[in-house]
Amino acid sequence: MTTTVKFLDLKNQYLSIKPEIDAAIASVIENSAFIGGTFLNQFETEFAKYIETQFCIGVANGTDAIEIALESLNLTPNSEIIVPANTFIASSEAVTRTGHKVVFADCDPDTYTLDPDSVRSLVTNDTSALIAVHLYGHPCDMDSLRAIAEEYDLKIIEDCAQAHGATYKGKKVGSIGDCGTFSFYPGKNLGCYGDGGAITTNDENLATKIRKLSNHGRLEKYNHELEGRNSRLDGMQAAILTTKLHHLDHWLDKRAQLADRYIEKLRDYPKIKLPNIKPQVRHAFHLFVVQIDHRDYIREQLALAGIETGIHYPICLAKLNAYQYLDQDFARLPISSNCDIRLLSLPLGEHLNFNDVDIVCEKILSLHK
Ligand SMILES: *Cc1c(COP(=O)(O)O)cnc(C)c1O
Repeated sequence: MTTTVKFLDLKNQYLSIKPEIDAAIASVIENSAFIGGTFLNQFETEFAKYIETQFCIGVANGTDAIEIALESLNLTPNSEIIVPANTFIASSEAVTRTGHKVVFADCDPDTYTLDPDSVRSLVTNDTSALIAVHLYGHPCDMDSLRAIAEEYDLKIIEDCAQAHGATYKGKKVGSIGDCGTFSFYPGKNLGCYGDGGAITTNDENLATKIRKLSNHGRLEKYNHELEGRNSRLDGMQAAILTTKLHHLDHWLDKRAQLADRYIEKLRDYPKIKLPNIKPQVRHAFHLFVVQIDHRDYIREQLALAGIETGIHYPICLAKLNAYQYLDQDFARLPISSNCDIRLLSLPLGEHLNFNDVDIVCEKILSLHK
């Protein structure tokens, strides 16, 4: 079976910018700038400028970014942190690993991001923070979340792993909460050639703490002011990321055009619930997720036609074995705990064109007759 529409095509992306990438990699090797150094500094500066924050600190991956962000915020030990029930497990793992308690909130049925009403209903005296995951690339309702955070004195960590370049009311995600965390896992909208991550913030003290925690508690070589860890973005990944960052907006535009095409072609079919994009946001369209009847059958038939799809995520986090210990009341998570069996991620990326989208849509519609 040959693949007609790929879900992800990193080789194609590489070939489209090969000379720049090859030169960037060679340059890191020629300069032996593997850890720290000019390529890392350049990326941190450029990424901070792109996200419109004063500071950016490269770290080893997006999961570490959340952990280090939580550690740096001086939260009360063993406090409760509110996390969406529909996200990748990294968002909640970081909470437990830093000694806090995971509290799952439900998601909005249109954007799949944190539902502010659900968040509000879960706040207690022990709540210290919330993790606003801009899931699939759609920004959370930050005005409502910030109002709750102000009222109850909570910190906001924006998990931007799927939303590089997305904006909310003209502001880049990652510049709105206390800090923003990013993953540069290869398949993300901005990905490197291995693992990578970053934290953005406008708070200088926080930035300094993050820099220490991610590099053995030091700012200078052997002057360790506290115990930290080794979680660094290396020079090679930084050089690759700087190169790719220059193409990101163009890639995001392409994603948005393809998403528009899906919406135009599928909008009249009641059996498919399309993503609903809120006003005043730029959606980064990391994923194009629909809800569809007979999801598994449709997915199988698409695969037989050479069309790759994904499921994000097949099991709502709160239902996973890893969270049995919470003894969760699913009645509090009606959207997240019921939509997982209907979610389907259609192929979307700068490697595709309108014709590919048309092929996918025609196939889906023929199955739904
Ligand atoms: C990918 C992802 C992460 C984790 O990033 P890694 O770099 O793989 O550690 C965290 N949160 C979300 C929402 C993600 O999609």
